[in-house]
Amino acid sequence: MELYKNVYQIQSLYGGRNLFQYLFVGDNNLLVDTGIAETPVKVIFPYLDRLKLKPDRLTLAVTTHADLDHQGGNDAIKRASPGAFLACGESDRALVEDPRALFDRRYNFLRAEHDVGFDSDPSPDAGRKRAMDFTFLGGERIRLRDDWSLEVLHVPGHSHGHLALYDQRNRAAFVGDAIHGRGCPKAAGGMAIPVTYYYVDIYLSTLRYFESLAIDVLYSGHWPIMRGEEIRDFIAESRQTVELLDRVITENLGNTPGGLTLRELMDAAAMGVGDWPKESWNIAMFAVWGHMKRLEERGKARALRGTKPVKYQLA
Ligand SMILES: [Zn+2]
Repeated sequence: MELYKNVYQIQSLYGGRNLFQYLFVGDNNLLVDTGIAETPVKVIFPYLDRLKLKPDRLTLAVTTHADLDHQGGNDAIKRASPGAFLACGESDRALVEDPRALFDRRYNFLRAEHDVGFDSDPSPDAGRKRAMDFTFLGGERIRLRDDWSLEVLHVPGHSHGHLALYDQRNRAAFVGDAIHGRGCPKAAGGMAIPVTYYYVDIYLSTLRYFESLAIDVLYSGHWPIMRGEEIRDFIAESRQTVELLDRVITENLGNTPGGLTLRELMDAAAMGVGDWPKESWNIAMFAVWGHMKRLEERGKARALRGTKPVKYQLA
């Protein structure tokens, strides 16, 4: 779909959710996110073909953040377009380059203490190891044409190195998975999965930062296109969800002096929100862990490290 002149949204489905990449066509041709391993061959290259662009005309592919559905196609892009540069946020580089690191350090890091996680071996969807050509810290500019450039924003919370791209000319922001609302929807409607921010205070700062930016249209990795008031509502809902999880977790800990495991707190959070499908509750581990880390840092909760899985109590 052409969003506005020379800017395209490339759509496919993954796990019932929309999965979007974005293409900017100028003197430099920029792809934002590469999908899962098969997305370039099955979706992106056919899309380029319809625009009469060969894959080797890509100048740069930016991975907004470390997740298999955003970085999985990097190797396929580089092989079809060896002259295209690959880039991501500096703090995500190790995870974006290596699916093993992604699974061990981002998806399964809670397994030892909390007995929650994903498959231990990387899914084929995560693609192959592939080095980044360079990394962004935020504040850089990508020139598309002499009269058109994008600003690189550092918007952490879902990951440490999460990037967004801002098109000032069109007051449009391309934010990947930086903002979560109450969870991520299915393409067909209804909720698909819980919120997956990891670092709560940093996430809240990122939400405030987006509120300070002049955005008329918001494009993301999985959520519908939002405009005007919808953007303010989405950010407000994101903040309210953080507050809701904090309240539900604290109340449940208060009612259970013997302590609760991370899994029990995930279930409590899911019931508090109400419309996350039960088969996706496992994914609440990241946000709930983030809340527990913050409550511990503030001296409001403590982890009983001798127990397995670890139990949390109010301090
Ligand atoms: Zn995603």
